Amino acid sequence: MPATPAWPPKSLPRLFVRRPLGEGVQVDLDANQANYLGNVMRLGVGAEVLLFDGRSGEWLARIGEAGKKRMTLGVEGKTREPESVPDVRLAFAPVKRAQTDWLVEKATELGVARLIPVMTQRTNAERVRLDRLEAIAVEAAEQCGRTALPDIAEPLKLNQLLCDRSRTLYFADEAGGTPAAEAFKPGPALIFVGPEGGFTDDERALVRAASNTVPISLGPRILRAETAALAALAAYMAIAGDWR
Ligand code: SAM
Repeated sequence: MPATPAWPPKSLPRLFVRRPLGEGVQVDLDANQANYLGNVMRLGVGAEVLLFDGRSGEWLARIGEAGKKRMTLGVEGKTREPESVPDVRLAFAPVKRAQTDWLVEKATELGVARLIPVMTQRTNAERVRLDRLEAIAVEAAEQCGRTALPDIAEPLKLNQLLCDRSRTLYFADEAGGTPAAEAFKPGPALIFVGPEGGFTDDERALVRAASNTVPISLGPRILRAETAALAALAAYMAIAGDWR
């Protein structure tokens, strides 16, 4: 993806569809999407829409048929190649629902490649609704111009997260570490942020002992978990990611 978004932004509606796109393909929208285009955006036959399928880039399509609860679009041509985002993943201990939703939305906008919920000892969310998080990521990707969605992984336990030693694990540790501005380097990255109650001493020791861990500090203040996650991701994108 270019470092500068196209400006002025194209005002065409953008939709994610769950079927492979290509020139000449006919796309039947689901009832929600048909309702959005027909009743909310007040678009009818002949109107243009941008579509993406998460793999093949972005496509211009035109409404061919429109009914009360259904709509068919014909794909006319490719408008953008598939995006390339930095290989950065964000592992986070789920927080309250509204804050987790916010985290997923903003991380998607910032270009995260994968989101990984991690159940730590002080995680106070009992379960994570992956379908809900995916719906939030879809909406954010539609709005911000991404041509792919971040993967949203099944929740992991801490020891499962630590199995992958193939990437640098930037461990946001409120107890201190290398300033993030100095620590972040280009290359496959995993940023790990803890829950509201922070990490236990055992967890901190376990994460710090992993050979790929780089403990980082996000400044002199204790940030809320979701603020810490987004601050770390934005700093990574600025220093080692796609803002360079
Ligand atoms: N309850 C903990 C305490 O009082 O020490 C604070 C936890 S903080 C609200 C939630 C998470 O955000 C932490 O586990 C850490 O991953 C991250 N975090 C917050 N502020 C940070 C900072 N200044 N440096 C590094 N990580 C930070």
